[in-house]
Amino acid sequence: MNTVKIHDKVFSKTIPNEEICNEIKKLADRINHDYAGKRPLLLGVLNGCFMFVSELMKNLDIECEISFIKLSSYQGTATTGVVREVLGLSESIAGRDVIILEDIVDTGLTMQRLLETLGTRNPASMEIASLFLKPARLKVPVDVKYSVFTIPDRFIVGFGLDYDGLGRNLPDVYDVVE
Ligand code: 5GP
Repeated sequence: MNTVKIHDKVFSKTIPNEEICNEIKKLADRINHDYAGKRPLLLGVLNGCFMFVSELMKNLDIECEISFIKLSSYQGTATTGVVREVLGLSESIAGRDVIILEDIVDTGLTMQRLLETLGTRNPASMEIASLFLKPARLKVPVDVKYSVFTIPDRFIVGFGLDYDGLGRNLPDVYDVVE
């Protein structure tokens, strides 16, 4: 299945599942190394992160905990820049080594706002791991220490990412066909 139609748009396959999983394994190796002897708190940003988190967790062999928050800043294929916290954090992050797990950093506004919010809660350290990063779209300087794929300025779906609610279940990643 090299193309899929979702709502009004056609998408073509660009990154097969096997490649995504291989690259996430390499990220897990880096985190295993960088956080050896620590017990990081991974913080997944729902909804898009769920497949990334699942694949990453399977490859982490250090002690680690996972929790989820939910934010929303995107509608359709155009960012609104409006960040809304829907589900908050129930546990304390004070003194914890936090790794934020995001599906994609686009303008960076979501991550900038999240770092500001979480920074007031005194974590020992805080890093971002994003499955995808679109450097050409960044509007604010956000330090993404761990990014799995750097991609051009194109709208993608699959492996947890949606187009208006659909496409999250696709195991591969697809680019919109203009
Ligand atoms: P930012 O605040 O960095 O502009 O937006 C981040 C959010 O925008 C992501 O968590 C994701 O929900 C959405 N987003 C940005 N680019 C894409 C894309 O290419 N595909 C999909 N499905 N969502 C995107």
